[in-house]
Amino acid sequence: MTIAEHKVVTIHYKVVDCDSDEVIDSSENGEPMTYLHGARNIIPGLEQALEGKAVGDEFEVTVEAADAYGEHHADRVQQVPMAAFQGMEKVEPGMAVTAQTDQGPINLVITAVSEDEVTVDANHPLAGKSLKFNVSVEEIRDASEEEVEHGHVHGPGGHDH
Ligand code: ZN
Repeated sequence: MTIAEHKVVTIHYKVVDCDSDEVIDSSENGEPMTYLHGARNIIPGLEQALEGKAVGDEFEVTVEAADAYGEHHADRVQQVPMAAFQGMEKVEPGMAVTAQTDQGPINLVITAVSEDEVTVDANHPLAGKSLKFNVSVEEIRDASEEEVEHGHVHGPGGHDH
């Protein structure tokens, strides 16, 4: 069996930021990841690289930002008056905050703090980054009709409902 649409795939993986060589995430010492192929459960560049692979296959793939978490958009970076953070114990670069907007809550990361202004970034934390994946394919099975309908995996490693 090879990886194709409507297969449930289990992989071990390691992700490295191509610029800094920093390991962003790894399943090495934990549970492997299970996803439904062809349902955009994972980033497009990785899904594409997995197409046609079989159990036991190991490979490395570099995924450009556009096929990973998207480009970094400068217009999603904003200056906010420090007064907007009143009531927070501390305001520091690297902190994740949730802002309530007319369109619902959005996740922001504080990237810079000055005396009266805070810079917040609404881009995905991995936006603009090329990522290198090391992947090994552990398991492949057919998805159930229900899983295909829901667009995600049920059972171990998946949704429980
Ligand atoms: Zn479901």
